[in-house]
Amino acid sequence: MSLKEASELLKQEGAAALAGGTQLLLTFKWLPPPRLIVNIKRLPGLATISEDGDDIRIGALTTLADVRRSPLLAGRFPVLGMAARLMALPAVASMGTVGGNIAWASPQADLVQPLLALDAHLDIYEPSPAAAGEGRVRGGLPLRDFYLGPGQTALKPGELITGVRLIGADRRAVYLRHSTRRLADAQVCSVALTDRRAVLGSCGPTPIVVDLPDGLPIDEAVELVASKATPRDDFRASAAYRLKLVRALTRRGLEYLRAA
Ligand SMILES: Cc1cc2nc3c(=O)[nH]c(=O)nc-3n(C[C@H](O)[C@H](O)[C@H](O)COP(=O)(O)OP(=O)(O)OC[C@H]3O[C@@H](n4cnc5c(N)ncnc54)[C@H](O)[C@@H]3O)c2cc1C
Repeated sequence: MSLKEASELLKQEGAAALAGGTQLLLTFKWLPPPRLIVNIKRLPGLATISEDGDDIRIGALTTLADVRRSPLLAGRFPVLGMAARLMALPAVASMGTVGGNIAWASPQADLVQPLLALDAHLDIYEPSPAAAGEGRVRGGLPLRDFYLGPGQTALKPGELITGVRLIGADRRAVYLRHSTRRLADAQVCSVALTDRRAVLGSCGPTPIVVDLPDGLPIDEAVELVASKATPRDDFRASAAYRLKLVRALTRRGLEYLRAA
């Protein structure tokens, strides 16, 4: 199957892409299954991590296991390997993909927070408006603009994520995640940090991005980040506990980044 063929199928109402299937199949427990499942796992050329000039491109079908062991990412953006190692049991990591994690559009998706902190951009395949025409890959959509609401993204029918790009120079970043049982449980709360940005997971309907003014003292940065969190009570934790975690993880992350 080609990208064009997959895209044509995905234009149909009720169609869904299946990459690793580790999230999509899980949703069948509480949602009716899609009318059509399009297996994109074998689309060619989308499962590699490569350098493109100064940028790094991670193909949408790259598995979480590949992110964990990529020497290229370990050298330039080690925070992604760090996040991938904190999430998902080995069986899930060997099937689950980067594109699936992004398109899932959950505030619990663990790769999304560090990707947002690093200001990643998406490559998206868009079908041609002419039925017989070739589509094209449109680059440069900021991941920050991709999430419209819980489970809602900027993808239109027939569009597919083909990759995610880390643009330009390396940036130091750290990812801190709290869960009840490491690997076996979804996160209770997480924070990805660079010197300039904090991104919160599980503290609102979508990941929350907070830009940090240059040189802001740590105490003030912690309060700024906490003021943007809108956590809720659920069976994993109370909102109040999540807010405590936001403060503790943000402080720990900023102290780590500023100590070096
Ligand atoms: C036991 C278990 C533990 C898990 N633990 C974690 C965890 O700790 N952290 C975490 O973040 N996730 C976790 N997950 C969820 C899941 O494994 C990951 O989010 C994974 O990265 C999803 O990728 P996938 O390829 O399996 O997605 P799929 O299930 O194939 O797809 C997920 C969604 O994305 C869409 N999609 C997939 N690829 C594309 C694409 N290229 N373009 C457009 N749309 C696309 C699908 O249509 C679907 O809506 C866990 C799942 C299980 C079953």
